[in-house]
Amino acid sequence: MEATVSRYGHVLSPIRIKDVEIPNRIVRTAHGTGFAEGGIGPDFIAYHEARARGGVGLTILEIASVHPTAQGGIKAWDDSVLTGYADLLKTLRPYPMKIFQQLFHGGRQFVPPDGGPPWSASPMPSPGTGEMPLAMSVSQIDEMVAGFAAAAARVVKAGLDGVEIHAGHGYLICQFLSPYTNHREDDYGGSFENRLRFLRQILEAVRREVRDAIPVGVRISADECIEGGLVVADSIRIAQTLEAAGLIDFLNVSLGSLMNYTKVIGGNDEPLGYELPMSVPVARSVKVPAIVAGRIKSLAQADQIIRDGDADLVGMVRALIADPELVSKSARGEESRVRPCIGCNQGCVGRYGGHLGCTVNALVGREAKATVRPAAERRRVMVVGGGPAGMESARVAAQRGHEVTLFEASAALGGQLRLARLSPLRGEMGEIADWLASELAQLGVDIRLGIAADATDVLNSEPDAVIVATGSRPRRDGYQIAIPLSPIPGAGLPHVKTSWDVFVDGAGTARSAVVFDDVGHYEAIAVAEQLLNAGLHVTFVTRLPRIAPLLEPARMEGTVKRRLMPRDFDFVVDACLLAIEPDKVVVGSLYGGRPRSVPADLVVMVGANLPARELADQLGGRVPQVELVGDALGPRFLQLAIADGFKAGAAV
Ligand code: SF4
Repeated sequence: MEATVSRYGHVLSPIRIKDVEIPNRIVRTAHGTGFAEGGIGPDFIAYHEARARGGVGLTILEIASVHPTAQGGIKAWDDSVLTGYADLLKTLRPYPMKIFQQLFHGGRQFVPPDGGPPWSASPMPSPGTGEMPLAMSVSQIDEMVAGFAAAAARVVKAGLDGVEIHAGHGYLICQFLSPYTNHREDDYGGSFENRLRFLRQILEAVRREVRDAIPVGVRISADECIEGGLVVADSIRIAQTLEAAGLIDFLNVSLGSLMNYTKVIGGNDEPLGYELPMSVPVARSVKVPAIVAGRIKSLAQADQIIRDGDADLVGMVRALIADPELVSKSARGEESRVRPCIGCNQGCVGRYGGHLGCTVNALVGREAKATVRPAAERRRVMVVGGGPAGMESARVAAQRGHEVTLFEASAALGGQLRLARLSPLRGEMGEIADWLASELAQLGVDIRLGIAADATDVLNSEPDAVIVATGSRPRRDGYQIAIPLSPIPGAGLPHVKTSWDVFVDGAGTARSAVVFDDVGHYEAIAVAEQLLNAGLHVTFVTRLPRIAPLLEPARMEGTVKRRLMPRDFDFVVDACLLAIEPDKVVVGSLYGGRPRSVPADLVVMVGANLPARELADQLGGRVPQVELVGDALGPRFLQLAIADGFKAGAAV
């Protein structure tokens, strides 16, 4: 244990922010959960308790709105918030984790709840809503400053440990700071000092209100990553000016703006620690404790940041969503048992179901309701299929105490994750397959590879329960959603492939390709990038009105387009395939435009797969319990496959 502690001695050492002692340097920085919209309740509290139990040093609660024109998060503009804070503290106080509150107003980014125009520095329409905001009058500025101060006073009254003012990411205060969004000609616009005035007044008012009761800090973006926006030199000047004026007790440095959201929450196409080249110079420019963040996935990575003197604390969000016990497991030397965040942004940012979830951790958002309970009796459970749904079901069933055997037809575990990890910039997806395989080994699951178990095998084994996780297969019958009743002529030609073929076998001698996307997610993008990397000209054809619209909830659509557009890449939207010929594809318009011929000696079809559920059909009624999971139940995305696996493992 001692060796482990010294290994992480930097990040696990305590630090003081003003008079508050933080037990270690890991900060769960503020992020929206969707659990506090109707007030702080059991789901919100249970989510935070799981991270407190897991050893987080400091949590900064998600945005708390300071004024009725703000939208979202915790509502801190009146005293009704105090009841929720009291409930929260009752649960969290037994843990050493300290609790700060982030105070926020989104400005032009959101329409106020009453439908009125958003408030901002200048009348520049929001890129998100297109709404024209009103430029705040001086009396409205005064009202907002008072709102921040009153909200901070509630934080003190509630007994929380600190307050952070959100001045980054293109929200209201950033809209004043940034020359991109502040075009005012009064005392709040123009010069650096004038653009800083609003934030200064907020901090002065907050400090007057809280006196020395709690630390006060600020979160800024090191660089807005937009032309004409704030850059690192501006942020250093902001940070040093605030520090010199004695207005901040800590500094939290992030990146990006809602104009370029992919930089705020970079996905797995950004490198680990992608913010650091810009955030560290800002963090190092001040003497108060500074926090940095941005795809920090392990305690080792965090420890390195502290050891190098790049920052005083390290922010983690997604890594702690994927595994709330990351800190405690790593401190015990059980790093391999930390469930990895795969940087997909699907469950946490994209939010199937409207609130926070996680692709790899089915318990996220259900901490108050679900848990892995020991089985009442040990049963013999047979899992057929070693993809993510099958592995997760085997993991949960074994964790509950069952005797589990898993049969996989191929020579390795992983299912479609083995394909995903072959695609450009998506290799990280495979980490969850590695983790599941490692957990199955730890739990003593009997894994039989290279065996395509059929109904006879299952019945001969006489299991108490069978989980069928036999996955899906791509269609090769020329089906497309827009013209479902007649197969695409030429779909059977030898140069017509599926994405699976291309991931495994490459493009062969082809020089130009059509990638036809009938889904709208990442799969077709990955194929297109693989073909571009192989030197082909790619024409991307989709029935959808945009390229990969299903990536937008995860905020990855923009970054994908930025990569594709400068390359040897064309696209046609609102389209269908009328015919495939040996050297070209005839592309039709869904809305009556003229057909066009696109040269292609390779055609890659990306559509909805067919479930492979024959085994479940054969077993019906002949085994005490049969559970169908993942693509075999219905081909969907990874988060739902893993959630199916969890449910089945909990149900046997
Ligand atoms: Fe990480 Fe994906 Fe889970 Fe988000 S949904 S925390 S990116 S694994």
